Amino acid sequence: MKTEIDLRKLQERVIQCRKCTRLVAYLKEVSQHKPKRYRDWDYWSKPLPSFGDPDGRVLIVGLAPAAQGGNRTGRMFTGDRSGEWLFNALNQFGFANRPDSFRRDDDFKLDDCYITATIRCAPPKNKPLPVEIENCRPYFLTELDLLRKVRIIVPLGQIAFAQTLRSLRLKGAEIPSLPFGHGKVYEVSTGQALRTISLITTYHPSQQNTQTGKLTRPMFHQIFRTVKKKLEIES
Ligand code: SF4
Repeated sequence: MKTEIDLRKLQERVIQCRKCTRLVAYLKEVSQHKPKRYRDWDYWSKPLPSFGDPDGRVLIVGLAPAAQGGNRTGRMFTGDRSGEWLFNALNQFGFANRPDSFRRDDDFKLDDCYITATIRCAPPKNKPLPVEIENCRPYFLTELDLLRKVRIIVPLGQIAFAQTLRSLRLKGAEIPSLPFGHGKVYEVSTGQALRTISLITTYHPSQQNTQTGKLTRPMFHQIFRTVKKKLEIES
């Protein structure tokens, strides 16, 4: 219960955050220039809080909200193409109660899984600046402290992977240089607070990867099959 309350307090702070002036201005611009298909939507256009099961053993780390996706609906990955892939896979392997979610007020729920992101405001062209990543890092570091049951981290894509490693190192983990690739599994000793964590890498389910065939459904589902198996072995 305490974790849940602390996470809620953190999320309230996140929603109020205005540290990145470029992103604050961009979110305002996005909500003023909606595409026709979303013209009736009242865009969230604020930082997105993380969400999920506070006791989850699996932590998914995205890159950043999509301007017309999570930034519109108010929940990470909700209503965007990457979310369609992610939620479908999570449902397939028992981490979500349904395979899709298009609004933040639906009954979509994560089980044994928590979703966060490298930065919490949609950046222009999906490209955050290094200073924006650093501005947002303290929120992720706090989540690493609060989500005490996490055993497996799945960063989505190379940037999320690199930034997760950096955050774990800042927490005191001694992690050597690790190459990125799809489906790599690393065991990372993070010191007493976080114990040993498995890092399982995947290409990001962005349209750029899914439409070009760089990432296929079987490849993506294999990641969560591996996650599931690891949890079963450990329990
Ligand atoms: S990206 Fe993070 S640090 Fe920057 S304004 Fe949004 S919530 Fe704040």
